[in-house]
Amino acid sequence: MSDAAAPSPAPCPICGKPRAPQFRPFCSKRCADVDLNRWLKGVYAVPVTETDDEDGEKVEDQPGRDRP
Ligand SMILES: [Zn+2]
Repeated sequence: MSDAAAPSPAPCPICGKPRAPQFRPFCSKRCADVDLNRWLKGVYAVPVTETDDEDGEKVEDQPGRDRP
């Protein structure tokens, strides 16, 4: 083998084009943004699971529980 002049690592995960060093691992800022948006959407798309630790429904003291 003698193609040491073309070290082509994995391509852009978004569009599959050769990645650009300054936008690793993407080929352009656009693809970087796409990935970022995906990531953000993924974060914000997470269904709101019980995170009501603020104030509100406080569990009434249940009878027969932690009582002497
Ligand atoms: Zn790309």
